Amino acid sequence: MSDGVIQLQEYKSDIKVTWCPGCGDFAVLNGLQKALQALQLKPWMVTIVSGIGCSSNIPHFLSTYGFHSIHGRSIPVATGIKLANPELTVIAAGGDGDGYGIGAGHFIHAMRRNLDITYIVMNNQIYGLTTGQASPTSEKEMKTKSTPEGVIENPINPLTLALAAGATYIARGFSGDAKGLADLFQKGIQHKGFALIDVLSPCVTYNKVNTYDWFRARAYSLEKEGHDASNLGAAWEKANSWPNLDQKRDRIPLGVFYRRTDIPTYEDLEPAFRKGPPIRQPLGLENPEALLEEFR
Ligand code: SF4
Repeated sequence: MSDGVIQLQEYKSDIKVTWCPGCGDFAVLNGLQKALQALQLKPWMVTIVSGIGCSSNIPHFLSTYGFHSIHGRSIPVATGIKLANPELTVIAAGGDGDGYGIGAGHFIHAMRRNLDITYIVMNNQIYGLTTGQASPTSEKEMKTKSTPEGVIENPINPLTLALAAGATYIARGFSGDAKGLADLFQKGIQHKGFALIDVLSPCVTYNKVNTYDWFRARAYSLEKEGHDASNLGAAWEKANSWPNLDQKRDRIPLGVFYRRTDIPTYEDLEPAFRKGPPIRQPLGLENPEALLEEFR
């Protein structure tokens, strides 16, 4: 820290990043470090929680607090941390298999609660850590190790799911646009409520279809097209434009789809918080006899 300003370097850990060269997750890590620095968040007041997968190694590469949890459970762990100490900035992160597959139930319930958590999903449309099986966002007909004749299921659309479930900040970024990612992360962290940032983050080793070039040929900026992120109908139309059942894949919107600031967070409504954050409340152990009496 110099002159009271936290430098970018101070958000970086000294653990070697082990992702494959060219993996889209590098841009997410860089973008997140830049967003934290732009907001001047103290590293000790930030916690990154992940599940399992290549992208879920991300807490190791930051100098904030971190919790590398189990498959699909980043959201419940992040929820517990946020509820214990709502003064912390809590960011959950992981991949599409982790968050939209095994963790899908947690994902939906966190959104309907409007917890003040930022959720970054590095969506590479494949299981990378387990060497290339179809994930919940793999495109229909895509050939993978687990689907040698092509995927027969429709992919999950995380953005329409988030709109339906009640997320109050919904955005999509692309690892080929590092500056745009940092901006989306910054806005998501500042948003009071549940923020989803789905990042198209190519797996250069196992997904040979959805590459950087493939996305560059299709991606466009919602902001440049004058999209109104306060308009639910417009957000739905844009979110549903890809992926969808018609398999239209010629134009993929990037940016903030939807943002709403008039919905109270779970923390705003939780009666237990009226006395202040739980971490600042007495544990009730000052008089153990009285506590034991409750159970007699
Ligand atoms: Fe990234 Fe894919 Fe390599 Fe995993 S396998 S680190 S997702 S490029």
